[in-house]
Formats: sequence, structure tokens, C-alpha cells
Amino acid sequence: GLDFDDTVEVRIGSKKHKIHTGIFINGQFVKSVSGKTFPTINASNGEVIAQVQEGDKADIDAAVRAARKAYETVWEKTEGAQRAKYLWKLADLMERDLEFLAGLEALDNGKTQANAAAGDLPLAIGCLRYYSGWCDKIEGKTFMDTHSYMNYTRHEPIGLVGQIIPWNFPILMFAWKIGPALACGNVTVIKPSEKTPLTALALAALIKEAGIPDGVVNVVPGYGPTAGSALAEHPDVHKIAFTGSGRTGRAIMQSSAKSNLKKISLELGGKSPAIVFDDANIESAVNWCKVGIFFNHGQTCCASSRVYVHEAIYDKFLVAYKKVAESIKLGDQFDPATEQGPQVDEVQFNSIMRYIDHGVQEGAKLVTGGKRHGTSGYFVEPTIFADVKEDAKIMQEEIFGPVVAVTTFKSEEEIIKRANASTYGLAAAVFTKDINRAIRVSNALHAGTVWVNCYNVFHQNTPFGGFKESGIGRELGEYALELYTQVKSVKINLGE
Ligand code: NAD
Repeated sequence: GLDFDDTVEVRIGSKKHKIHTGIFINGQFVKSVSGKTFPTINASNGEVIAQVQEGDKADIDAAVRAARKAYETVWEKTEGAQRAKYLWKLADLMERDLEFLAGLEALDNGKTQANAAAGDLPLAIGCLRYYSGWCDKIEGKTFMDTHSYMNYTRHEPIGLVGQIIPWNFPILMFAWKIGPALACGNVTVIKPSEKTPLTALALAALIKEAGIPDGVVNVVPGYGPTAGSALAEHPDVHKIAFTGSGRTGRAIMQSSAKSNLKKISLELGGKSPAIVFDDANIESAVNWCKVGIFFNHGQTCCASSRVYVHEAIYDKFLVAYKKVAESIKLGDQFDPATEQGPQVDEVQFNSIMRYIDHGVQEGAKLVTGGKRHGTSGYFVEPTIFADVKEDAKIMQEEIFGPVVAVTTFKSEEEIIKRANASTYGLAAAVFTKDINRAIRVSNALHAGTVWVNCYNVFHQNTPFGGFKESGIGRELGEYALELYTQVKSVKINLGE
């Protein structure tokens, strides 16, 4: 009864496209039970792109019912080889629609279409193909420890999982979540961020087209405290996989504790250090530290937002770093010359500008940037602060924007301590030509990922996740299979 034509026509760059705006439940786009909708905006000019159906508790309930039915009637009996075909097919369809999806991502998020087409989409497609390969290779073990008993383990699906994702990489996070979940035989209800719901709905249409049975993947756009928390509190949901802020990660753990102790995996924020030793190739280190903080406008959980440069090369590094930051071209996300588009929305923009004010007030040296770019939209100049004190707010807190805090160090021993003196532990980097030092420092850093002479390099076969308050569990690679399976141990008496 709630089924309807949810498509609207929007302009993406120079082309017009029909896009979906409904809630995707049981293979259909439907209206919200409440009848409410919410707007999603183009951050380049603040204009509304479309009104999207606003999911809340009643819609989450309906999605969970559909997922449960799909699990019990179809998915539990669907063999790995067939699940593999579905994931591969979905990847093929995403490849077919790559330009459209990259454009819609750019429109809703503010990142450039070129970056989405060259980065987000190929990584998401690669992730689905990778997990397609795992579908029929989920294996247990057998144990022959005594003559009287044998034991085997089964790695069974968790069942019905809820997945809550952020706005900074909407398509990629969708793929990181559904890829391993479906590979391991789970069904899912996924809630995209209210800031960027559109590509998740475009992917829902492709999920239908790929022939994935109705109800296996349900997409419910809506706000965190309503739709998100209804999912996290639902008694029939066996696990929540979440990517976003630490504050919300804590709320989700509380929801789990209050309801059914559902399993939780969390990918949270960071304040990741990049350490540049005096024997590093300076030009290369500068370029990677550019990628580290300015990629995706600094809206990257593992951004190199603290840069520590050995005092012997500090001045030289800063001159070059300023130059690369000032070379970044800001503008419309559909202009092929643009390197950096707008921040995702006004809330994020204001928060970043407040941090910049703090930096200035706390006496850090503003090397470049620090201002709004242009007069409309939410553009922030690439910003470098130097001589930043260790206890400064901009050195301690995640800014989630194109703002980097740089300072010096003297010795290896000292910088390991300072780099580790953070409540976060998502990523870190070491720049040096000395292989012994690279390995020594990598081993000593408290971080889920350490990059050596590079930064922000991802691959679907490589695990990603946080130490300390940066998260629980590892996504990607074989490691993610642990997030979406539970081990059953079966013991058989071989005698009487
Ligand atoms: P957020 O926590 O505000 O929102 C993330 C998601 O959680 C959204 O879908 C939101 O609607 C939902 N949500 C909000 N409140 C909720 C609640 N009470 N219950 C259930 N769901 C709720 O984070 P954000 O602003 O979207 O993303 C930015 C943050 O995410 C940054 O801190 C960043 O570091 C982090 N992040 C981490 C990773 C990672 O892999 N570690 C990746 C991307 C982003």
C-alpha cells in the first residue's frame, strides 16, 4: 500500500537523471509510515537536491521483518556459489553505472565526480568482487585430539545484521558493509547517513536488478536518534556494524546493552600522526602528507591531522607543504579541474571554522589558509598550522576538515611517546629511508594501520580498523569474515 513511484528527476553535472527517494524494503521502494520526508542538499550552493522518505522506528520494524523472512525462507538456503554470483553481478552493474553513481555521490556529498569515479567507485567494486570470492570459502576446522571424540567447527552467519554508515564515503562504506555480510550469509538492514542517502538508494535499485532476493538487503534512510537507534535497539537484530563518531559508537553500545546484547563492531574517528624523519625524501613526504589530510577535504577518519617533522628539515618541509596546499584548486565538484569541493554541509563547515579560530587563539602559526573560500557553499581553504603545542585543541581533537597541525621533534624515542599520547589509534605514518627505523617505529606505534612512506592507501585485502577509542573489530580482508560469522563447535562421541 505504501509502494509508489519514488523517482524524481535531478540534474547531475550537465545531465538529467531519475533517482530514487523511497525507503527500500523487501525489494520495493516505499513511503515512510509517518509520511515524513527530509531534504538532502548540494553543498556547493546549499540548494535542496531532493526530498527523501524519512525512516523511523515503524519503518525499521518493517525492514527487520522483511529481512528476517528473507533469511528464513531464502537466504539461509542459498549456497555460497550463488551468493558469489549475486555480489559479482552487483559489482558489474556498478561498473556499468559508474559515471552516474560517481556523479550522484559528488552531488550529495560534495566530493568531486572525478575523485568518486577514480577512487570511491573502483574501491567499492573491488570490495564486492573480493567478497564474492569468499562466499564459498567460509570454512571451519576439524580436531582429532582423542580417539574417543572428534570435533568440528562451523562458521555460521550471525543472521540479521544492522549496518549504520557515515556520509564521508557513502558508496564505499556501503560496499565495506554489505560485501562481507552477504558473503558470510547474513541479511541486512542498512541505514545511510541523513546527509548522503541518495547513492545508497541507487545501489538498492541495482541490488534488485542483480536478482538478490527481496528482503536480503533493506535500505532505510533517516536520522540517527530515530531510525539509527531503533535499529540498534531492535531485539531481532543480532549485530550492528557501525562507522561514524565515537559519541554515536558509545550510544550504539548502550542500545545493545539495553536490548539483546547484540554484537557490535565499530569504526570510529582518529587524530592520526605522520612522522617525517630527517632522512626522508622530503618532496615525497610532503606529497603524501598532502594526500593524508587534504584528500576528501579532510573528511577521512584516518586523516594525517598531526604531522611531526624532524627539526633538521622542519623549515624546508613547511615551505614545500605550504606550496602544495596553495596549489589545490577549490570549486564545483563537476568541474574536471577541481581538486577540492565543498565540505559536506553547514554544520561541518561551522565546526571546522570554529577549530580554525581556536588554533589562532591558542597561538599556533597560521602558515596558509584559514578562511572560507568563495561566498556560497561550504568551502574551506586548505589550512596548515605550524608550531602547534601538544596540548592545543587542534592537536588533540578530530577536526574532520582540511586543517593540519604541524610541529617538530628531536628524537625517535620522544616522538613515539608523543605520537601514542592520544585516546585514538586508527592510523599513523612513518617517513624514512632507514628500513630498520621504519620497522622499529611501525611496531611501536599504537595504531590499526601504519603506512610507511605513503598515506591513505587502501586495498580490499588489507584489514582496517582502530586501536583504543578508534574502534572494535577489523573490516576488509579475511579479517572481516570474523565480524559476520559465529563459530559453532560440534563434538561427536565416537564410542558409546
Ligand atoms: P555520526 O556518528 O554522527 O553518524 C554516523 C551514522 O550514525 C549516521 O548514519 C547517523 O545517522 C547515525 N547515528 C547518529 N546518531 C545515532 C544514534 N544515536 N543511534 C544510531 N545511529 C546514529 O558520524 P558522521 O558525522 O556521519 O561521521 C563522521 C565521523 O565518522 C568522524 O568522527 C569520523 O572519524 C568517523 N568515521 C570513521 C571511519 C572509520 O572507518 N573508522 C570512517 C568514516 C568516518
